[in-house]
Amino acid sequence: MNTYLIVILASLILGTGWTLYLEWLNLKSLAPTAPPLLADIHDPLTYRKSQDYARAKGKLEMTAQFVSAIATLVFILVGGFPFFDSLARFSQNEIATGLAFFVLLFAATEILGLPFSLYRTFVIEARFGFNTTTVKTFLTDKLKGYALGAALGLPLLGALLWFYSILGAAAWIWCWALVTLFSMTITYLAPAFIMPLFNSFTPLTEGELRDKLQALAKRAGFNVGGIFVMDGSKRSTKANAFFTGLGSKKRIALYDTLVERHDADEIEAILAHEIGHYRLGHITTGLLLSIAQTGVLLFLMGQALSLPGLFQAFGMHAMPIHAGLVFFLLLYSPISLILTPLFAHLSRRHEFAADRFAAAHMPSTAPLVRALKKISGQSMSNLTPHPWYVFFHYSHPPLGQRIKALLTAETRSYV
Ligand SMILES: [Zn+2]
Repeated sequence: MNTYLIVILASLILGTGWTLYLEWLNLKSLAPTAPPLLADIHDPLTYRKSQDYARAKGKLEMTAQFVSAIATLVFILVGGFPFFDSLARFSQNEIATGLAFFVLLFAATEILGLPFSLYRTFVIEARFGFNTTTVKTFLTDKLKGYALGAALGLPLLGALLWFYSILGAAAWIWCWALVTLFSMTITYLAPAFIMPLFNSFTPLTEGELRDKLQALAKRAGFNVGGIFVMDGSKRSTKANAFFTGLGSKKRIALYDTLVERHDADEIEAILAHEIGHYRLGHITTGLLLSIAQTGVLLFLMGQALSLPGLFQAFGMHAMPIHAGLVFFLLLYSPISLILTPLFAHLSRRHEFAADRFAAAHMPSTAPLVRALKKISGQSMSNLTPHPWYVFFHYSHPPLGQRIKALLTAETRSYV
């Protein structure tokens, strides 16, 4: 048997096994009562409901992972890749073939994932009272997403195929420059041109809240381009806040659900945390790491294109570039399985640091603690996740750890 195929199949099976095991551990660690520090978040009935929610989500996730792994395995073993490659050859042009090949793979993945995404939104989220997405919103979101992907993604992929076809392995540096330029442009333009396609943003009305947030931004040394309220309630009752854009285009977006349910002090604390991410350089670090990772990926991809064994592993008789790019990603998946927890670890450290920043720029930590508890309570987040699950999956530390760290920071500042 082909060595590449053995590595890919083994990593698919072991990787899925490991993911399912972590999900199972996490379900096992659901506790009948909340930890003492978080006992005031829910009444016993709602707490039990939040456990049912975690269980329902965990089981769906396990099923989705399992089905996706089986489908990938079968697809590889029955020669799905050479079949899609032959379907995609509707023209003499290699780039057109490559793009058609990507579209076919994307469509297959979408069709496979659709039942799970429908079940998640219209059954689980609806059962626990979170879903406000209508079928019409769900469908138009999908269509807009496809149109955007076709308009932006296909030209980029076409350009990558073209670079590799004329320059071979040496193309990676050009591809890297192009992808970096492309993603920076998208990030810069997203708040003005892309996000309004999905949500409406209205400037926060003048008043106590706006004055408070502007004063905070000034105090924390943050140059704000605008504060907007986003109609998050169009899809879910869950609340959130985020920054978008780069440079002078950066905006603060508050979900309407957040503005409705939190008092001005809590929103100020949430914003102080978000500003912390900017001022502590987390955004820049994240951007540089992702640029570096893309560079490594594109370099290795270029090398993989000249490995005949990698193509033979999937039953291909020729070595088309488009197929090589996908095969490389499958070969790379064990490495990304190792990198994911490292990035998650860094992200959790950043969250603690942003919490400390917020605490230092507010009169007390009480509003942030209150806000975190409220957000977590209203979205029924799992209050007792398994430590291994946290290590591998969580981009944010569990609520209990965050609150403990905040309370420690506060006592320290008194001594
Ligand atoms: Zn954060």
